[in-house]
Amino acid sequence: MNFQSQTMRLHNADSVPFLTYNSLSELKFIRHAFSTRLGGVSEGEFTSMNLAFNRGDNPDRVTENYKRLCQSAGFEFESLTASAQDHHTFVRAVTRENRGTGIYKPRDLESVDGLITNEKGVTLVTYYADCTPLFFVDTGNKAIGLAHAGWRGTVGRIGEKVVKKMGEYYGTKPENIVAAVGPAISVCCYEVDEPCAAHFLALTDLNTDKFVFPKDGGKYMLDLLEANRQILVAAGVKAENITLSDLCTNCNRDLLWSHRATKGKRGTMSALMCLI
Ligand SMILES: [Zn+2]
Repeated sequence: MNFQSQTMRLHNADSVPFLTYNSLSELKFIRHAFSTRLGGVSEGEFTSMNLAFNRGDNPDRVTENYKRLCQSAGFEFESLTASAQDHHTFVRAVTRENRGTGIYKPRDLESVDGLITNEKGVTLVTYYADCTPLFFVDTGNKAIGLAHAGWRGTVGRIGEKVVKKMGEYYGTKPENIVAAVGPAISVCCYEVDEPCAAHFLALTDLNTDKFVFPKDGGKYMLDLLEANRQILVAAGVKAENITLSDLCTNCNRDLLWSHRATKGKRGTMSALMCLI
């Protein structure tokens, strides 16, 4: 595997690999990770690090995968608290009482695509395989957020909703937020049709020329990372505090799960983050 990135670092490549952002690693009061498709015990189309319980994999294997990832990346398994993503834009504040949700307790967070907390001992978990993860760290009031932004969530401005909810719950000031966007399917590989592109072209307060690129045959290349970056800037996050991942899931299919690269026969990756 030829791993190259200016923004992210690959750890434990020979055992249970995970990625971190260089920018977020400088913040010593949080721990974060993004999983890969490697280092797990799942088989068949889920080989080997699948972190989704809802795609037909053996749940005991998924649990073991989480335990391996936690061990590798330094998270407490009992602290995991997962979203229940379905491409909406609801954001929920979670506490220690929610620990285990969606992992070793039933999901009770239906329609939640974003999680925030300001409590230690709660690890936020969200799921991906091409969609865009958004990481938020409030360096002032020490709070964190994770959100899943597929194209629907991006158009619905879930990034802005997380910033607002962190402000409402934790007094977070947007200018104190350090954010990261990705890894996701990137503009090199993310072709969409006209109805999808039209939703993005309708975001007229943003510079759509920078993320919707028409090509022949009524198709468009879409840059979800740039669209999310602009949405965060519009919400008050400083441009210099936002890092975009340079790892496209489809271009790095040996390392990362890509829904498009696998035509849907795939496992799922997770973003994890907690306060320490
Ligand atoms: Zn690509």
